[in-house]
Amino acid sequence: MEIKKRVAEILKSTIASTPGQPEFYQAVEEVLTSLEPLLKRENKYEKYNIIERIVIPERQILFRVTWIDDKGKIQTNIGYRVQFNSAIGPYKGGLRFHPSVNLGIIKFLGFEQIFKNSLTGLPIGGGKGGSDFDPKGKSEGEIMRFCRAFMEELFKHIGPNKDVPAGDIGVGGREIGYMFGMYKRLTNNFEGVLTGKGLNWGGSLARTEATGYGCVYFAENFLNKYDEFLKNKICTISGSGNVATYTIEKLYTVGAIPVTCSDSRGMIYDKNGINLETLKRVKEVERKSLVEYAKEHPNAVYTPIEKYEKGRNAVWDIPCFAAFPSATQNEVNLADAKVLHKNGCRIVVEGANMPSTLEAISYYQENGILFAPAKAANAGGVATSQLEMSQNASMESWTFEEVDAKLHGIMKHIFDLSYETSMEFGEKGNILLGANIAGFRKVADSMIEQGAV
Ligand code: NDP
Repeated sequence: MEIKKRVAEILKSTIASTPGQPEFYQAVEEVLTSLEPLLKRENKYEKYNIIERIVIPERQILFRVTWIDDKGKIQTNIGYRVQFNSAIGPYKGGLRFHPSVNLGIIKFLGFEQIFKNSLTGLPIGGGKGGSDFDPKGKSEGEIMRFCRAFMEELFKHIGPNKDVPAGDIGVGGREIGYMFGMYKRLTNNFEGVLTGKGLNWGGSLARTEATGYGCVYFAENFLNKYDEFLKNKICTISGSGNVATYTIEKLYTVGAIPVTCSDSRGMIYDKNGINLETLKRVKEVERKSLVEYAKEHPNAVYTPIEKYEKGRNAVWDIPCFAAFPSATQNEVNLADAKVLHKNGCRIVVEGANMPSTLEAISYYQENGILFAPAKAANAGGVATSQLEMSQNASMESWTFEEVDAKLHGIMKHIFDLSYETSMEFGEKGNILLGANIAGFRKVADSMIEQGAV
């Protein structure tokens, strides 16, 4: 059967068999469509039914999480862990705590994770998990009780050679600490079962910074191919969490000017550059809204989300050379992409997972905007998580400089592999196609070698 038809058929059957998961279908469509040139060239993937198999998780676990709030009332949330693919290593991928979490979102994240992890060149499979628990407005005690309750079920399914979760939206060092403490109580084992751990108990230096730093390293690699660079260039960033903060930090190091950040309530435009110290204190320490940033920096413009033009993200109205969407999925749509282009944006670097809609991606590609897709650009986080696993397994701790140098090397490897693969298929510079094909090929070939898995 013609490949295009086969891909359409698989998409159709995915939708029919797993209804109500639009983000998952979006991720599947993005990957499968860019695999078409490979599938046309190599018939073994069709012969062994790889694409039909790869869109189905090896295992998905859904569980009830009950915990007691500060008033003594029993609260209930849903917990998820999707163990998508273990062809090249133990499942690896973050946990997200956010009210929007549902099975489709965890599946899209887990599916993307398979190819991202493969691209790093490290032996890690793909998985993702989380809960619809909303950490906002919860007390410290409630957060701890929730994390412990979540681990009470999750511990049965994870292990250092089985599945090693990490953080994502709403899950940082504090939550990893509470979950690790509970895992240890339940199993009586001190082992590298989670990454993003505290530095005193098995964490890796530079893990906190890795995703954001990695995005900037990736952007520099990409731009250098065209004799361009970030130095002295205006950059816009959405989000103000882990990824956004360390993207901004590294942008300063390379001499760029990061002028925006945002959260779920609004955005800041600080034309002389975001004040990193204030940002870190407000978001990491005080855990408050960016309104507090605006109070301390009267020259910065704060725009609350209610004032955004309908269907738009105001961050992308600010003219920039490079845009780093680093908050959440589908935060750059076609209308946003058109404004970015009109204002002369040269490159979009995805810090968040799937922040661009399919229409926005097509628009970048048709209009000469360089596009660094999430699975390549933000892979520095998971790569450094794997470096944490290596340090745990060998009982070593590397210096910040050692880990950062390895991260540098890994981001270069990912760029080079994606770029070379784009050339191999006659699509020079199409990093989306290059990353999807290179990530897929290694996993698919491993599945073939392992038989009917
Ligand atoms: P954090 O929880 O640290 O920060 C998320 C940021 O995005 C916050 O500023 C949050 O606002 C904002 N945000 C979240 N949801 C929305 C929404 N629906 N609308 C507007 N703003 C929103 O998460 P991370 O920085 O870790 O993750 C950000 C993105 O990067 C996610 O897509 C994640 O999957 C991806 N990623 C993260 C990695 C990591 O190592 N942490 C690795 C690879 C990818 P507020 O402060 O108001 O909550």
